[in-house]
Amino acid sequence: MKRIAVLTSGGDAPGMNAAVRAVVRYGIYHGIQVYGVKRGFKGLMEGDLHEMTISSVGDIIHRGGTILRSARCPEFIEEEGQLKAINVLEVFKIDGLVIIGGDGSFMGAKALSDKGFPAIGVPGTIDNDLAYTDFTIGFDTALNTALDAISKLRDTTSSHERVTLIEVMGRNCGDIALYSGLAGGAEAILIPEVKYDIDEICKKLISSNNRGKTQSIILVAEGVGTAAEIGDIIHEKTGLETRSTTLGHIQRGGSPTAKDRLLASQMGAMAVKILMEGKSSRVVGIRKNEIFDMEIHEALDMKNEFDTEMYELAQILSI
Ligand code: ATP
Repeated sequence: MKRIAVLTSGGDAPGMNAAVRAVVRYGIYHGIQVYGVKRGFKGLMEGDLHEMTISSVGDIIHRGGTILRSARCPEFIEEEGQLKAINVLEVFKIDGLVIIGGDGSFMGAKALSDKGFPAIGVPGTIDNDLAYTDFTIGFDTALNTALDAISKLRDTTSSHERVTLIEVMGRNCGDIALYSGLAGGAEAILIPEVKYDIDEICKKLISSNNRGKTQSIILVAEGVGTAAEIGDIIHEKTGLETRSTTLGHIQRGGSPTAKDRLLASQMGAMAVKILMEGKSSRVVGIRKNEIFDMEIHEALDMKNEFDTEMYELAQILSI
């Protein structure tokens, strides 16, 4: 393994920079030349690759976003685009590629591996929606951003005696809503994995209100619907004053937490290590606090196991 490349793809996530830094420095430390690809698969197809140095990844471990930029590239889903990318990799004499991104980007990694090009996936997405790994890079920072918003919104919710609905990201995965809802003491958490009964929620809000509770927070995962619409229904059914806030892209930015920086550093290094061992078609993950790697097809075939215990605990603690 003489020369490798690294790219970031799909939605950006805090900690991607720390992962790029780890790939570049771990590679250079082991005598490997490392190229950075700009704008994900788009830049790869266009040949937008540049050699990285130790200093080109200096002063980025604490920065959100990605210095390599990210892009969505529909052309890469087609075989023609993938062959074009492999051609570029061969022209640049790249022996292996590290792809930092979410499930879509991993499909790209799988496509390259299936065509014989060594590719390794590193999970970088705030959604935490990859079943094979307990955590993805960026999730913890997004979770803390949501938690900070919950605390701030709780202050004003309390002053005005309202019900505040907070919509968070996660696509079809409810983890940001569940974890931040439990940590923020939300009265209800609506996530795609569990069917909810709006009348039960309204009943709970009315009885809390009758008990003298002056404010309630409801977390809404984007995969369930919009906080505004659900807030309107709750207002109609209970007469309680509701307000909704959609956190949006604020969740994708910010300086990565210690947990995300550590995860990114360990996973980035592991990706290079397994390429050096001659492995291909693999993804890096963390399970029970251990960094590991597994076959990419197997990883992508796994179904998300919902954390029922954590959900039930949130229900119990919000009585
Ligand atoms: P996030 O979950 O944060 O949105 P993601 O990696 O899932 O990140 P996507 O937009 O789904 O983001 O995918 C990123 C890119 O991966 C796509 O723009 C495309 O270039 C590539 N990709 C997606 N699906 C496939 C596929 N089936 N085959 C090959 N490449 C794919």
